[in-house]
Amino acid sequence: MTFLQGIAASNGIAIAKAYRLVEPNLSFEKQTIEDADSEVSRFKEAIDKSKAELEAIRDRAQVELGADKAAIFEAHLLVLTDPELNGPIEDKIKSEKVNAEAALKDTADMFVMMFEQMDNEYMKERAADIRDVTKRVLSHLLGVQLVNPSMIAEEVIIVAEDLTPSDTAQLNRQYVLGFTTDIGGRTSHSAIMARSMEIPAVVGTKSATEDINNGDLVIVDGLKGEVHINPTPELVEEYRNIHQQYEAQKTEWAKLVNEKTVSADEHHVELAANIGTPNDLKGVIENGGEGVGLYRTEFLYMGRDQLPTEEEQFESYKAVLEGMKGKPVVVRTLDIGGDKELPYLQLPKELNPFLGFRAIRLCLEEQDIFRTQLRALLRASSYGNLKVMFPMIATLDEFREAKAILEDEKQKLISAGQKVSDSIELGIMVEIPSTAVLADQFAKEVDFFSIGTNDLIQYTMAADRMNQRVSYLYQPYSPSILRLVKMVIDAAHAEGKWAGMCGEMAGDETAIPLLLGLGLDEFSMSATSILKARSQIKKLSKAEMEKLATEVLNMQTTSQVIEAVNAVTK
Ligand code: PEP
Ligand code: MG
Repeated sequence: MTFLQGIAASNGIAIAKAYRLVEPNLSFEKQTIEDADSEVSRFKEAIDKSKAELEAIRDRAQVELGADKAAIFEAHLLVLTDPELNGPIEDKIKSEKVNAEAALKDTADMFVMMFEQMDNEYMKERAADIRDVTKRVLSHLLGVQLVNPSMIAEEVIIVAEDLTPSDTAQLNRQYVLGFTTDIGGRTSHSAIMARSMEIPAVVGTKSATEDINNGDLVIVDGLKGEVHINPTPELVEEYRNIHQQYEAQKTEWAKLVNEKTVSADEHHVELAANIGTPNDLKGVIENGGEGVGLYRTEFLYMGRDQLPTEEEQFESYKAVLEGMKGKPVVVRTLDIGGDKELPYLQLPKELNPFLGFRAIRLCLEEQDIFRTQLRALLRASSYGNLKVMFPMIATLDEFREAKAILEDEKQKLISAGQKVSDSIELGIMVEIPSTAVLADQFAKEVDFFSIGTNDLIQYTMAADRMNQRVSYLYQPYSPSILRLVKMVIDAAHAEGKWAGMCGEMAGDETAIPLLLGLGLDEFSMSATSILKARSQIKKLSKAEMEKLATEVLNMQTTSQVIEAVNAVTK
């Protein structure tokens, strides 16, 4: 039995066999062969096996993911059986007497290079298809297995070096019971998505892909951040009990689903949910969300090969606004960058993507993209209670410019006879220290703040939120962070505005008493944390938490703050 300590990224216990989502080694040596005919047969056999595999994937994709995803595999099948590609490979094996692997790779590379140089999007996509198909055929020639998460058909725990947000979105909740990764932190977007999908996860284990083999029995303890590999039957039994207790606890919390969130001394706060797609609404309703405090619209732009149209966006925003039936919905405009990439925008690689050309910076420059989103939002505004929020605002000038663009699109739509709500609140994320420090000035012009602690902490501490080696600096309870949070809340209240928080800190058990004491109005978190938070707040007195907050603001270290919170609440 082996034990790994990582970061608890998503609550719950999962016990299942491991499925390694790790690219296999496809390296080989170029060799001279004697018998060209049998080498050609070996190549043809690999083609046949690839064909059968692709047909199965296409059929599954058709049923489970829809026609457009299935079309990708249809295109791969066409490449696989194209005589214009296979002919030259067979000729090369015969004339140059090289092994099939080398003939395949050399020929495919030549076509890829040719297509990529063409100034034509369609041909560039064909180059990508050839690359994918070549990998598949090579895997059969070398007798190794390619990974394909969408083909998983039994209960597993995914083991990967890292998962991108789009990998995570493809995981099938029915079969993927949990996941564990080598890298990543609690606020990396794959962890955030795991929480909204209620998949237990442990990230940042450093060596999961090294220590876990396919088929090993694995326990993922997303409550403590532990991974047990090939555990003893006694430990499995122990964990089955912990799992049951956790489920029983959830049943208790579920009784609060239709209640308001009120502290022991009758102070009301709003508990809202963070969502990534309209599909997440079901979880918001089931968990008693009093609104959507953060709709991360960038997921609409990901996992596809072109920008979503205004109409597609309109439909998504309308679905969320209608689904929430008049409850507040804070939609954040496109926040791409950092760990959320859009390959089809072909932006140059940056050395520091978290500090780079992202979010509002990109939107103010690529205004076509921004204006399309704003039009879709404005058109959807009459279907519910819309609030629009700009991400990564660092200066008042950025806010004013973004607001002017929104106003411009609004006037154009109204002139064209379009119905637009006249009560859309306009706010900003406070996730850059400059904005927190200048919150009193921002508060004169915005309708609300939502504190994005995932980024605010990484920028204040200068510690990359994706890097587990510096994850000890993700310190939500540090007096430095708490002082910034206080400045933002006080600044909002001084101008009669409200302050929310949509970073992961808002749903954190130790942070909640402090945030209540600091006067936070809205707490937005993974939907699955709402009921637990409601149950916790019901037991806390706002007046007492105010005293606690005043005390901790003058403390020196995070551990002192944690001790003080525990002393009062446990
Ligand atoms: C944040 O930075 O706290 C936030 C909520 O935004 P994201 O996690 O999407 O960067
Ligand atoms: Mg952020």
